[in-house]
Amino acid sequence: MKLRAFLMSLIALSSSVACTVVDDARITAFRDGRKAAVSLTFDDGILDHYTMVAPHLDSLGLRGTFWVNGHSIEQGEVNYAPRLTWQMCREMSDRGHEISNHSWSHPNLTNLSEEQLREEVRRNDDAIEAATGKRPITFCYPYNAQNELVARVCHESRVGTRDFQEAQGQVNSGSTPESLRAWLEKVIAAGEWGVTMTHGIHHGWDQWNDENVLWDFYKEIAARQDEVWVDTFAAVASYRQEREHCTIRVRKYHKCIGIKPACDLDPALYREPLTAEVTVNGRTRLLTFNPFGGEQLFEK
Ligand SMILES: [Zn+2]
Repeated sequence: MKLRAFLMSLIALSSSVACTVVDDARITAFRDGRKAAVSLTFDDGILDHYTMVAPHLDSLGLRGTFWVNGHSIEQGEVNYAPRLTWQMCREMSDRGHEISNHSWSHPNLTNLSEEQLREEVRRNDDAIEAATGKRPITFCYPYNAQNELVARVCHESRVGTRDFQEAQGQVNSGSTPESLRAWLEKVIAAGEWGVTMTHGIHHGWDQWNDENVLWDFYKEIAARQDEVWVDTFAAVASYRQEREHCTIRVRKYHKCIGIKPACDLDPALYREPLTAEVTVNGRTRLLTFNPFGGEQLFEK
């Protein structure tokens, strides 16, 4: 790969005099030019997420985001719902799922002092990092409750927080195969980022009477990945921020195309590659580039 990159840069240098602008270039709304994105997210660190949800997602090649509260991890049954262990969090993280911060003890954060609020966030970040080796870069508000202070503190050193969600479950939300399909169609038609919120399967808030409704829905999403980018909350949130903060200069050289990005975000926090749709000589291509990687060359 290194030799190839070197040769490509030689080609670019030798033909830099002849470089011209391309017909058209833009960063696509979602990875690989797909129409829409979906993040499947699961609240409260319920044991069902390890025993049922993650295996289903794994079998379909999908990655989910699991919002956990360190306070209830390893505590067995809390509020009638068995909870995850740190070892389970570690395993799910190693399999590519996102384990992220839902506060340490699930209080309504808008009722706390700034000091208490910061402690709820930091303590859970530390515990998740200790268990998984990865410090969370997203946050999910307990009860979806936030105010100006909570939002400001919870956005620090993060690529995003969950500010909108589609509740999916049967006992409280009344999800049906038809309602789930209609939601997916709406997300695709609108070119949006859809974020689901699911709690327990057979335990906790908003359970499923017929869990196969949910598994069938995931199968349908997996089958439509040419239209929908399914990825963790962190991945999609990062992509969207990078896209907003990145500009590209695209050049056509004699034998290759060069993409030179400029992005003012912190590369230690934002690590998602971006996709550019570039049209050269009437031919449109999707090119994946690192927004912090300097000029990158692609064969024409
Ligand atoms: Zn919760």
